[in-house]
Amino acid sequence: MNEEFFLPESMDELWEILSHVPDAMIYAGGTDLLVRLKESSIDGIPLVCIERIDELKVVEQREGGIFVGAGITHSELMRNPIICENFPVLVHALKVLGSPQIRNMGTIGGNIITASPAGDTLPPLYLLNAQLELCTSNHKRSVPIEEFITGPGKTKIGKGEILTGVLIPELKGFNIHHFEKVGRRKALSISIVSFCALIMLSSDYVVEDARFSWGSAGPTVIRSHEAEDALIGKRLSMDTLRIAKEFVRSAVQPIDDIRASAWYRKEVACNLLMRLIEYREY
Ligand SMILES: Cc1cc2nc3c(=O)[nH]c(=O)nc-3n(C[C@H](O)[C@H](O)[C@H](O)COP(=O)(O)OP(=O)(O)OC[C@H]3O[C@@H](n4cnc5c(N)ncnc54)[C@H](O)[C@@H]3O)c2cc1C
Repeated sequence: MNEEFFLPESMDELWEILSHVPDAMIYAGGTDLLVRLKESSIDGIPLVCIERIDELKVVEQREGGIFVGAGITHSELMRNPIICENFPVLVHALKVLGSPQIRNMGTIGGNIITASPAGDTLPPLYLLNAQLELCTSNHKRSVPIEEFITGPGKTKIGKGEILTGVLIPELKGFNIHHFEKVGRRKALSISIVSFCALIMLSSDYVVEDARFSWGSAGPTVIRSHEAEDALIGKRLSMDTLRIAKEFVRSAVQPIDDIRASAWYRKEVACNLLMRLIEYREY
């Protein structure tokens, strides 16, 4: 049983509560935390729900990019005109995250702190060079997402710190914003492997720039700069993709689990890259 429960409506109120109950556990949508509650792994800990804090729900232009509050839900984010216009790759990932119910409750902050290798917002956030803003009542710091997440369920969040939001730098020139997720079924599926790509493709199909990342293919999101370099400056073709694919094969480090074998995941990670050939028709 968790007998102490708090529902602050502002950051000031949150800091005040945390000064009295420093060991309280924060949650937003509760879609990850409440599953753990059912497993009783966090029995008896005071809970603080941050879903009513409006300061955590902003999406706004700031110096250095667009700031997305950690408490914004996936549904709110995928309908936000600023996000749709600037970061379609994130919207593609949000559209296949969980179900409408999960998207209505779950937040981007919760997805990041959960740090699941299958977290659907993570591959796009890595490619978008997202910077996380972490605060205590008297200190603020900014950390690149790839430095913050250190393993499955592991982050560098400090004691008493709250993730207040994500700063996403302006993105220019990429005309392909791709996210694909392979699961055991079409809807409400945790990814077996996901693949995210940002590509600048010229009208004669030369790859002028490329960023690739994979989810569920290692302990954290995997990037392969070698695969990117193998394509940059080349025409997008089956031959160039085949060369790049071999770098993917050595970059991914999947595991066997109940959803798929490591071998299958590796094959899928490579094949998802090969599917970029479909953009020859775009
Ligand atoms: C049926 C089901 C299907 C799902 N499908 C998917 C899926 O397809 N893809 C996917 O990526 N995820 C999926 N999830 C996982 C989950 O919905 C997401 O990770 C969601 O984004 C979590 O957000 P939340 O606000 O609900 O997190 P919460 O459960 O509220 O919190 C999760 C963790 O983050 C911490 N936390 C939350 N916000 C903050 C903050 N601002 N600062 C500091 N710590 C914080 C909490 O303490 C907790 O440890 C699924 C979950 C369920 C139950």
